[in-house]
Amino acid sequence: MVMRRRALFRTEPAAPMLVLCLAASLLFSSCGPARGVVKADATFGYCPVCQMKVKASDDWAAEIYYKDQTKLMFESPGDLLIFYT
Ligand SMILES: [Zn+2]
Repeated sequence: MVMRRRALFRTEPAAPMLVLCLAASLLFSSCGPARGVVKADATFGYCPVCQMKVKASDDWAAEIYYKDQTKLMFESPGDLLIFYT
């Protein structure tokens, strides 16, 4: 019995660290800084509707410019309309 308790106690501190690492990685992967609003002169960004990568030079790319020198990029005018409605 004593041996078993010691073994359990040894593995215990690892569990909260594992949960912490998992939570941190989830947090950083889900809301990175490059999603959504980008600077007005950026050549690529991510669509805030479907998270697709958008190149400003694409024929169907649509953009919304804001007064603070930032913009939102969409890979199609359809997603721009979805964003606005
Ligand atoms: Zn999209």
